[in-house]
Amino acid sequence: MAKVLVTGGAGFLGSHLCERLVGQGHDVLCVDNYFTGSRANIAHLIGNPRFEMMRHDVTFPLYVEVDQIYNLACPASPIHYQFDPVQTTKTSVHGAINMLGLAKRVKAKILQASTSEVYGDPEIHPQVESYWGHVNPVGLRSCYDEGKRCAETLFFDYWRQHGLKIKVVRIFNTYGPRMHPNDGRVVSNFIVQALGGNDITLYGDGSQTRSFCYVDDLIEAMIRTMNTPNDFTGPINIGNPREFTIRELAEQVVAMTRSRSKLVFAPLPSDDPRQRQPDISLARAVLGWEPTIDLRDGLERTISYFRSQLRAAAE
Ligand code: NAD
Ligand code: UDP
Repeated sequence: MAKVLVTGGAGFLGSHLCERLVGQGHDVLCVDNYFTGSRANIAHLIGNPRFEMMRHDVTFPLYVEVDQIYNLACPASPIHYQFDPVQTTKTSVHGAINMLGLAKRVKAKILQASTSEVYGDPEIHPQVESYWGHVNPVGLRSCYDEGKRCAETLFFDYWRQHGLKIKVVRIFNTYGPRMHPNDGRVVSNFIVQALGGNDITLYGDGSQTRSFCYVDDLIEAMIRTMNTPNDFTGPINIGNPREFTIRELAEQVVAMTRSRSKLVFAPLPSDDPRQRQPDISLARAVLGWEPTIDLRDGLERTISYFRSQLRAAAE
């Protein structure tokens, strides 16, 4: 059993990862500054002797003793990462330098939660790991996209220069319970709007595509990646290759919630990628993994989570 550090552990993905690692018998140290994460996400783990929480901002150095590091700290939704773009870049870049420095000192294996955004608005479809991307370096999304690209560079330079054991996963759109209800990401937005009987906001004409992965599948792939042989670094795509238009997603959410919400159209945000679909051949071959939960099942679980959240808030 290992001592594992999860940065961003009080966030959506981080809290599921901490839960799974504790369940596997590891000692987990969760580090988070609560920018988008919350104590509620990890409340069920507090008191477990295998779980420890530390409030800390990864842009500052951290001195702890661990065997593995999952580096997830970074706001992930466009609303949150554009709120303080300079801090977003600092979190990705200074955060990566600090966590890589820590990994170097204690000889820990370190995994970076990178993103499909490194491909930008892709000209290659579906996206393969060898594609270098099509990213605007000076736009509203750049703080996130370029911050994550620079973090990947740092990981590979620490690997080449210092022989660190690194893993880089490129995560595609993932959804599920514990998404922040106001974080503006499309799945949580549509569900919260539909359950509240409010208009469903389709940006643009809704023909842009995304491929949605349920959180449990994603966490399984992340842990399998951490456990690959030392000579495997990635980058490796993880996500669900089934592609939907945003309009199809809206219609499915409305049907499943039996909502009377109407679809309304709003301007497309700048640099919004037209299409996104992971090629997961590498994950299939190296991890023996592919997603098992389809959109309908995943939406059912997510809708029931938001229903209970809204009910609790109303009481
Ligand atoms: P999230 O916003 O729920 O979680 C991010 C966590 O990081 C939060 O708990 C936040 O408080 C914490 N954090 C932010 N800045 C920090 C800092 N400076 N120091 C310490 N903690 C800090 O988002 P998420 O969806 O759980 O994403 C987790 C990671 O996965 C992110 O790195 C994100 O870029 C990556 N990712 C997620 C998706 C997705 O679809 N969910 C897709 C691609 C990549
Ligand atoms: N989107 C939308 N309505 C919303 C929120 C998002 O139409 O209320 C669109 C958004 O423009 C994008 C897609 O849904 O094309 C996915 O957006 P999200 O912010 O979830 O993730 P990302 O753009 O980072 O993939």
